[in-house]
Amino acid sequence: MPSFARLPASGIKVIIVGAGFAGLCAAIECDRKGHSVILLEKVSELKPLGDIISFSSNSGHIFERWEGVVDELEPLIHHSSGLDFYEWSGKFCTRQEWDYDKTWGRRINGHRGEIHDAVYRHAKARGIDIRLGQSVSEYFETESEAGVIANGEKLTADCVFAAEGVKSAGRKIVLGYEDKPRASGYAVYRTWFSSEELAKNERTKHLVNNGDTHSGWIGEDKHFLAASIKDGKEFSWVLTHKDDADIDEDWQFPGKKSDVLANLKGWAPIVHDLVNATPEDRLVDYKLVFRDPLPHFVSKGHGRIALIGDAAHPFLPTSIQGASQSMEDGVTLAITLQKSGKANVPRGVRAYEAIRYERVHRAQMTGVTTREQWHKADWDKIWKDPKMLHLKREAWLLNFDAETHAYEVVDEVLKKLDNDEVVKEDVIPKPTSHGIQAVLSQELDQLV
Ligand SMILES: Cc1cc2nc3c(=O)[nH]c(=O)nc-3n(C[C@H](O)[C@H](O)[C@H](O)COP(=O)(O)OP(=O)(O)OC[C@H]3O[C@@H](n4cnc5c(N)ncnc54)[C@H](O)[C@@H]3O)c2cc1C
Repeated sequence: MPSFARLPASGIKVIIVGAGFAGLCAAIECDRKGHSVILLEKVSELKPLGDIISFSSNSGHIFERWEGVVDELEPLIHHSSGLDFYEWSGKFCTRQEWDYDKTWGRRINGHRGEIHDAVYRHAKARGIDIRLGQSVSEYFETESEAGVIANGEKLTADCVFAAEGVKSAGRKIVLGYEDKPRASGYAVYRTWFSSEELAKNERTKHLVNNGDTHSGWIGEDKHFLAASIKDGKEFSWVLTHKDDADIDEDWQFPGKKSDVLANLKGWAPIVHDLVNATPEDRLVDYKLVFRDPLPHFVSKGHGRIALIGDAAHPFLPTSIQGASQSMEDGVTLAITLQKSGKANVPRGVRAYEAIRYERVHRAQMTGVTTREQWHKADWDKIWKDPKMLHLKREAWLLNFDAETHAYEVVDEVLKKLDNDEVVKEDVIPKPTSHGIQAVLSQELDQLV
């Protein structure tokens, strides 16, 4: 039985709604900091659904602090050393090696359901009170507590984190009005399947027969990214394309290969082979929705309810940051609550918003800039300088440890909040490597 590092009990009780990456991470981080957690999830069984997800080095630090989780994930995750870019016609353009940002932290790319399952089991092993099959229908707060109604039962705590994703019901109490997700004008076809067929095809076998590979084909208003995983044994691809379909409450549908191929007329034969080898029952047509940036993440009434993860800030997949940023939220909140203490929970919740607000919105914007960099590529310029296609690996975003950063700024932020000073702009992280070791060893000294 592994033992888990945990600060002494803070007496702070937290209810978290939603067991996606935001909710699970917040639950684990609150447990690490000594707060007591009830995590409510509406589905009664967590199944390993989904396909590829990428966690960048900024969330790699978070996984690494969870005893045993990275070791468990290691055989399941993608292990290529770079991304090969092709023009849509199939002509090779450039390779982006990941070498230089290895020093920034571990990247974890793999099957969303498998990674989620490992994190869920870690939360269970820590003894966190996770209650499945609990649908939250209402949020409330008073000066002294906050709570929810779940399956008709009233539950209270010192604060509530609404982590129910892009359809969040918690947004109503936090914003004071109801807003709906909007179509982004883009959609993705996405899939994950066994690579047996691809291994037999002359055109595709190099993608799966020599370990993991990562490739991207870029065209006007579309891009097709493909990755092999588990030493090439499994395969995933995602096609991002324009889509004007009106969305209502549902935006995920079974995909049709004929629709995908219609989107790829004239594209490289290898891309057609990848689509043709896909079992149709594993193909998903997923409309991308977004919401305008929120004016705030915390309830104005008593400041005890916080939105976290996609509930606060939905991400486009092209930022490759949605899940990482969701995790940074929970890390930050656990620390701001630790530092503000049981007697002043709303102060801690407000400090979370102050620390996260600017950074997360800057990160959100990268989803649009990366998409436009590829979809509006000027090929005359790219053939002269193929590196223009490379993903921007920005230090301010990726060479960043949310725990270290929160400990660095929290005291100053709390002081400014006490003095009613504006703190948002002051805490945008600068691209430094931080005094990570110093802060970590300080924290380790406090662990029991
Ligand atoms: C196609 C696509 C690809 C992506 N790829 C990446 C990627 O590579 N890297 C990356 O970092 N991000 C990626 N993202 C974004 C990332 O998936 C999200 O930002 C992240 O998963 C959000 O996590 P969350 O916990 O906030 O929300 P969710 O994962 O949506 O979890 C919300 C949870 O709340 C539960 N819930 C909802 N309502 C209630 C209720 N009333 N009561 C109780 N429980 C409730 C739900 O059942 C669910 O379990 C991608 C997104 C898309 C759409």
